[in-house]
Amino acid sequence: MRTTITVESVPAKTPRPKRPNKSELPRHARTILRDLKKDYPVAICELTHESPFQLLAATILSAQCTDARVNMVTPHLFAAYPTAAAMAVADISHVEQLVRSTGFYASKAKNLIGMANGVMTRFNGEVPTKIEDLVTLPGVGRKTANVLRSVAFDLPGLPVDTHVLRLSKRLGLTRDVDPVKVELQLNALLPPKEWGEFSLRMILHGRRICDARKPKCAECRLAKVCPSRA
Ligand code: SF4
Repeated sequence: MRTTITVESVPAKTPRPKRPNKSELPRHARTILRDLKKDYPVAICELTHESPFQLLAATILSAQCTDARVNMVTPHLFAAYPTAAAMAVADISHVEQLVRSTGFYASKAKNLIGMANGVMTRFNGEVPTKIEDLVTLPGVGRKTANVLRSVAFDLPGLPVDTHVLRLSKRLGLTRDVDPVKVELQLNALLPPKEWGEFSLRMILHGRRICDARKPKCAECRLAKVCPSRA
């Protein structure tokens, strides 16, 4: 359900906030965390799944694709291949057919079957929880591994996608553009139990308010602390 956001607008002549210096960053990050919680009290992963394996498969499919589209595909995919054991022996042309509408279907189908084989042969049929194990699976990068950790296992994990990257820079939380560096910088500024939901809330804010091309600064609760405010 879409959250209705009501914020007091920042008066037009209020000077744009300065970029926080290093010693101000922890407090700045806490302010952003607190304000995001006000606007997005419920932060849940929108990919439909019933197990860590299914979330991993859905996250692989979500590359360059909307969650809504993935959620149209996965009921049919998981009806045919609900577990890693089933996916590991799947016919690739059938998987390709099922995931075609998510784009890049040939490599996604290959990765799904490869991931399932890796889970079966190297991790006794259980999706691993460690980031260094997760990223050894085909189609699984650090962002996907952190989705798994935070959503499926309730462990610390801060996925840095394009929204998190853009907002972190605009809000003055980082000057870096490398997702791994940004992840580690954000990790240092926020309590581990907040990492996953912080990422989900930044994604929601990026989709609804801080658009890549047309940020709606006049409607943004973070405008009072944002050094990139229009
Ligand atoms: S919408 Fe504007 S004020 Fe809000 S975070 Fe983005 S750039 Fe900053």
